Amino acid sequence: MGPNPSARKKAAAAGVFAALVFIPALLFSTMIAGREISRLYGLAWAFFAAGTAYAISYTGRVSFYRRIFFSVSALAFLLHFKLSLFGKAFDPSCFKDTPFCHIAMAPYFLNYLYQQYLALMSGGWKLWGPITLGAAWLFVTIGLGRGWCSWACFYGGIDDGLSALPGRPLLKTGRWALKARDLPAALLIFAMLASLATMLPVYCLWLCPFKLTGSFLDQQGYLRGLQYALMFFALAALVLAPLLTKKRIFCSFLCPFAAWQAFWGRLNPFRISIEEGKCTGCRRCVAVCPTLAISCAPGGKAEILPYCNLCGQCLGACPARLHTYTAFGLKLPAVEGALGRLVSAEHIFVFSALLLGSAFSSLWAPAALRDLVKIFGTH
Ligand code: SF4
Ligand code: SF4
Repeated sequence: MGPNPSARKKAAAAGVFAALVFIPALLFSTMIAGREISRLYGLAWAFFAAGTAYAISYTGRVSFYRRIFFSVSALAFLLHFKLSLFGKAFDPSCFKDTPFCHIAMAPYFLNYLYQQYLALMSGGWKLWGPITLGAAWLFVTIGLGRGWCSWACFYGGIDDGLSALPGRPLLKTGRWALKARDLPAALLIFAMLASLATMLPVYCLWLCPFKLTGSFLDQQGYLRGLQYALMFFALAALVLAPLLTKKRIFCSFLCPFAAWQAFWGRLNPFRISIEEGKCTGCRRCVAVCPTLAISCAPGGKAEILPYCNLCGQCLGACPARLHTYTAFGLKLPAVEGALGRLVSAEHIFVFSALLLGSAFSSLWAPAALRDLVKIFGTH
């Protein structure tokens, strides 16, 4: 017996969706990766993005397949820039090409404005630099908003992938965790002001867990010891804490870019919404949210906080299926026909997220694949 007609229609719609993701992803990834390596690696990465799109559309399991894509992208980042396989861990020679770090952008933003002001005053201001950077950031923020932290960020992919590994949390995050949820905003404001006052990238110097690029203040003294201590604290928050708690601890409490995107993400129309009036307060969605972005007092109603980064993990957790992707707070009206399901807020958001996520990761993922081919090709 062949597949039933509705499964066939679903598969056909998922195939169209995958093709819609594949074509622009191919364009971006071959263009970005093709500057230095064979375009075939970009093609392989575009296939992976399209395969993820197909799996999400066909099964409806957004977060499961997103997480695979996101974690593979983060692993590829580690492989290409931070670790060299087979023994030479933390090889400093691989830092020189590390892409511009978006996390540094937020705490250093006031310094950037100040530098632009100085350039303007001295008559050496260049129009295209700020416009290109600003336009790229605005494009990503409008297209992906807070979703950046669950679909594109290489740090987020590590935290998210590790938080998925344990079956149960060994340590439970209590209500204190929700109370500390504004910590990244405070950290962002502090780092912005301290960076401006010292004209140094304060967050990168003191807290970045991968601060292995030689950015230390003192070659040997106590300052270097203190910087190491804070770096390992942040590294533990990124690697160890998710394994113990099943929560994305670094992203939820120590990432200033998460606070930055939570604020500017308002420009993006997509949200996760909970159907009003039907919540029983069972808190199952609270338990599964990896970024502690749902609040629900005992006996109360669940509420999505501005820190939600649209990972989709809560979609399948609610017994009444109350969570859904919305655009401008609205579900899009159902469209008839085989391809009608593609015109949903969920599909449009996933399209945008996979496209921007795969374009950004084209800076390293195809190159990591080439590294693997080289390593296994020589053995
Ligand atoms: S509220 Fe849902 S979509 Fe938002 S971060 Fe939490 S689990 Fe992910
Ligand atoms: S899982 Fe559903 S019913 Fe339970 S608290 Fe969350 S939204 Fe309410």
